Amino acid sequence: MIITRFAPSPTGRLHVGNIRTALHNWMLARKSGGKFLLRIDDTDAERSKEEYVEAIRADLAWLGLKPDGEERQSQRMALYEGGFDALRAAGRVYPAYETAQELDLKRKIQLGRGLPPIYDRAALELSEEQRAAKEAEGIAPHWRFKLDHDELITWEDGVRGPQKFDPASLSDPVIRRADGSWLYMLPSAVDDLDMGVTDVLRGEDHVSNTAVQIQMFTALIAAQTGAAKPIPSFAHEALLVGREGKLSKRLGSLGVEAFREKGLEPEAVIALLARIGTSLPVQPIADRAELLESFDLSTFSRSPAKFDDAELERLNAAIVHQMDYTVAADRLPDGMGEEAWRAIRPNLSHVGEAGEWWRLVTGPIAQPDFDEEARPYLAAAASALDLSGDDPWHALTNALKEQTGRKGKALFLPLRQALTGMDHGPDMKELLPLIGEDEARARLEQAANG
Ligand code: GLU
Repeated sequence: MIITRFAPSPTGRLHVGNIRTALHNWMLARKSGGKFLLRIDDTDAERSKEEYVEAIRADLAWLGLKPDGEERQSQRMALYEGGFDALRAAGRVYPAYETAQELDLKRKIQLGRGLPPIYDRAALELSEEQRAAKEAEGIAPHWRFKLDHDELITWEDGVRGPQKFDPASLSDPVIRRADGSWLYMLPSAVDDLDMGVTDVLRGEDHVSNTAVQIQMFTALIAAQTGAAKPIPSFAHEALLVGREGKLSKRLGSLGVEAFREKGLEPEAVIALLARIGTSLPVQPIADRAELLESFDLSTFSRSPAKFDDAELERLNAAIVHQMDYTVAADRLPDGMGEEAWRAIRPNLSHVGEAGEWWRLVTGPIAQPDFDEEARPYLAAAASALDLSGDDPWHALTNALKEQTGRKGKALFLPLRQALTGMDHGPDMKELLPLIGEDEARARLEQAANG
């Protein structure tokens, strides 16, 4: 069974890039009847906030991405301690004593010599006595994971294809601070194993983390259980950029809150994010089963996915135009039934605009002033009006055409203006029966009398 996870840090609201990753993990799991887990990466007690944990849950709920389980790293510390001890016993973790300034200086010297800024493993060279001396000075160590330099790191990436890393080109990552707190790398690997995650799908900014974590998985499995827990499969999707093709600050703050404020449908957001950056066409598909059916990592491009607000608005409008009454009903004004919804929805970009058009039916409306030529015409319309037939609008306009010789705009526009106060709007054929005979006649007469 496929098990995926979405692992946000609750240090802020989800932005559109996170949402896209969450969606793809949800899709990957749902497509195969697997599980989609939410993991709250809240090991950073200072920056993690409960309000963001709640906001993450609420945002996922609004998007309809329901997790099949939730874990919080802050409640799993004992597991990380166990993983750490096992790795330490296996000689894969070592203490280091450099200060941030010392490390910075080392990096500057390396860069100055044109060398890559890789940690030189000086701490590994320390003798027992030297370490004891550091600690006697009151310097607590931070801890690094020792990469195995003899083993090339390779994996078949679900999006990027075959990947190869020389571990000697990477720094041994710091996994634990001197105060005992955890950095991201080890807890994530421990959790992925413990939670039985089969597929890690995340942004390409994590590619080098994956290289390190593959060695961690291998070491954890060997050190801890001896059991054949499989290492997950990995896929790294290209990042999300703005329409102009650049990483945009704006996207970093664009999320569910803004989508809701704009009156957008979750289905429009989902339809867009499911397919941008893939070879599949972006279409107004409100049916998730249909999106799931075509979901396939092999369609994902390695170049950045472009997010365009205008495209989202277009999709939203198209989704509203085909939306069933039952989906919209509880957001519509009182009294606005299915017929009215069908008449009005082609004019909407957002469901929230329905009320403006519904007011044309319920009134009061503001009519323009009609000139001497239009008034008798509208009086004739008031007399000819008859809503008893199947299609009273055509009956009315046909009768008036015959009677007055008017056609086109001269025939239709004064009627629309008198009946709705507007030059454009929903199809009059559908609107007229909703307005009703008495009200429609009253409006025509009022227009005729000025
Ligand atoms: N908390 C990490 C992040 O938000 C999770 C990365 C991962 O998916 O492993 O970047």
